[in-house]
This record gives sequence, C-alpha cells and structure tokens, in this order.
Amino acid sequence: MSQPGGASPARLPFPLPPNAIIGLVGGGQLGRMSALAAARLGYRCHILTREADSPAAQVSAGVTLSDYADPASLRAFAAAVDVISFEFENVSAEGLDLLAGLKPVRPSPHVLRISQDRVAEKRFLNAAGVATAPWAAVDSLDALHEAARQIGLPAVLKTTRYGYDGKGQARLRTEADLAPAFAALAPKPLVLEGFVDFACEISAVVARGADGAMACFDPVENRHRDGILDLTLAPARVAEATAAEACAIAMRIAQALDLVGVLAVELFLGRTGKLLANEIAPRPHNSGHWTIDACPASQFELHIRAVAGLPLPPAVRHADAVMRNLVGPEGLALWPAVVATPGLIPHLYGKAQARPGRKMGHVTRLFPKGSLPGEFGIVAALGPAGSDLG
Ligand code: AMP
Repeated sequence: MSQPGGASPARLPFPLPPNAIIGLVGGGQLGRMSALAAARLGYRCHILTREADSPAAQVSAGVTLSDYADPASLRAFAAAVDVISFEFENVSAEGLDLLAGLKPVRPSPHVLRISQDRVAEKRFLNAAGVATAPWAAVDSLDALHEAARQIGLPAVLKTTRYGYDGKGQARLRTEADLAPAFAALAPKPLVLEGFVDFACEISAVVARGADGAMACFDPVENRHRDGILDLTLAPARVAEATAAEACAIAMRIAQALDLVGVLAVELFLGRTGKLLANEIAPRPHNSGHWTIDACPASQFELHIRAVAGLPLPPAVRHADAVMRNLVGPEGLALWPAVVATPGLIPHLYGKAQARPGRKMGHVTRLFPKGSLPGEFGIVAALGPAGSDLG
C-alpha cells in the first residue's frame, strides 16, 4: 500500500500538527479503533502488520507489511512515521530498541517489557505498592511443588509470556494436577498464582500525557466466557470507595511507569472488598470499548491524544453502558439482529474469517446515567442479540 501523501519530516515537535503520521504496531481491532480516533483528530495512521487486510490496515493511510522482528521492515516503518505506538505488545526487546532509536515511542519500551512478562509485571506492581494474588516464579516441577506448598491450592499456573484470553494457563485444584499442568505448559517460563475467590472482576482505564496529566474512566465490571471477555458493565456496580481505589491504583501504576498513553488494569474484587491487580495492558483495552459510545472522548481518542502530545480532556461519561463482544461464528451470526435492533450500537472489525474464539465485533447499549439494568436486566437490555448470546 502507498505511503500517505505529504512530507514526513524526521522529527516533528509535540504536539503533533494535523496530518502528522502516527505509526501503530499491530493490525487488530484496537489499532483499527485507534486509527479511526486519530483520523477524527486529523492524523493519519501507518500500520505495521503481517496481514494486508488486517482490521487496522483497512482504515489507515499507510501500511508496512512485515512480521514484528524484521529489522529492515522496522526501519522502513519508522522512516514512514512521526511517532510510534502499539496495539500489539509482544515486540522483541531488540525490535523495541531499534524503533526507539529512530522515532519517539509512546509508551516507552520499558513499559512494554514489564507488561510482556507476568513475573516482571507482578514484581513491578508489588514494588509500586499494588497488591496482587500471592505468586511465585516456577522453572521446574520441584519449584512448582514448593510454590504450591507456600501459596496453597487451588492456584493457577500461567505462562509468563504470550498468554491472552485465558490461553497458556491451568487451574490446579489438587496435588495430582501439578505434574500434568507442568508438562502441558513447560518448558515455557511459568508463574504460579494463588486462586482468587473474587466477587467480581473489574478494570480501570487511565490515560496519562507526557506532562503527567491523567484522566481515568469510571471502573467497569467484566464477565468472561470461556476465558474471553463477554460483557462489560459501565460503571461497575461497586461501592464508591472501591471505584475510587481502582482509579487510584490505575493512576499509581501509570505514574510509576511514567506512562504516555492509555493503560488498563484488570483487578479482582475479593469477597471482603479487597482489590488485587491481575494484569496491566499499556494500550486501549477491550473493557474500554464502551467509551466510544458513552463518552465525549473515548479511550482511543485519549490514547491518540497522549501519543500526539495533545491536551487530555476529562474521562467523563454521559451514559451508563453495556458492551458485549461478538465472538467467533456465533457472534457474527447475530450481526443481522444487531443492526436491526434499535438502540444497539454496532461495531464490526472487518475480519474476513470468523474463527471460534475470534473477536469479530462488539455491540454497545447506552442507558441514562444511574439506570444500568440490574443483574437480570442485562441480557434483555441488549435486545434479541443479547438473549441469543446469553
Ligand atoms: P488472565 O489471562 O491472567 O487475564 O486470566 C484470564 C481469566 O482467568 C481472568 O480474567 C480470571 O477470570 C481468571 N483468572 C486468572 N487468574 C486468576 C486467579 N489467580 N484467580 C482466579 N481467577 C483467575
């Protein structure tokens, strides 16, 4: 695909002027929605992706087709853009250093390095004063037995890298589960976590600018199905003090990372009201998609604003919202009902193949503030599509 028109000076001052080119590493739906937000602000996006027809490439001005490790392609990509950000985090350390030597990278590579590795992430969180489930790095079956003795069962064994949507993890209920789980996940580096008997899972999305200004969206409640986010309820129906604490945790993390961009923190809310951080993602997050429809400035706009050096508007919302993911062939099959149902706000990502477990799109429904339907109204709230998915 061709380069976007217009000159691309080696270094542009921040804030980036209109028509500047934002490079995004990764071609998925997060890149697509970021690129749409960037376009509204008068920026062009250039995507580094493996697939020409990827969701982000479809709506962007330029594309470099490559994997994320080829130095020549990374150099060509950097030459085509004014600033670099990510929707895909698993770029190698060498690749990150190469990019950072050529153009401003936001968030900075050290942030990605921490979020790429569950052990580095937990170490960082604990050092920043953020509580997590008890954990131990595991590099042998003996170490797993020792960790299980210290942490107790049940517990969850996870690969430290490249896990997403519940992949690369095993629930350990009894001693007998240890050896098979280790055999299934080793030789990858592993971490054992205590199982959290949570009341619910919540997340908070915070944006931080280069000047240190921050804006945090109201925390939301997340429900998963088969390890994949199914439903997000905005705001989370938790005590005000819990919501404030979740935002404070997100801001503490963003500050400690010296983040420039958007960051999501996933938290377990324990039955006693204690919050434990599960993981962080230094990018827009699936649990923040509702902000496109319920907020004057979405998580994607805040991310682009931070990356471009524009001022951050407040992360306020004008409505309550329910967001449901459309996952795999079953999710896509609901599309005709989604677009035919008044009040449902449809989003489709342009993926050609609806493989099982693949996020194809999402649907949002808004409610006047303070009127989010209760536990039993949520599926009905999404209309026919909601009940089919429920
Ligand atoms: P993760 O890939 O770490 O986000 O885990 C995916 C999902 O598995 C989470 O959203 C939780 O529902 C569940 N899970 C992960 N870790 C734990 C844990 N330590 N205790 C209880 N549930 C967990």
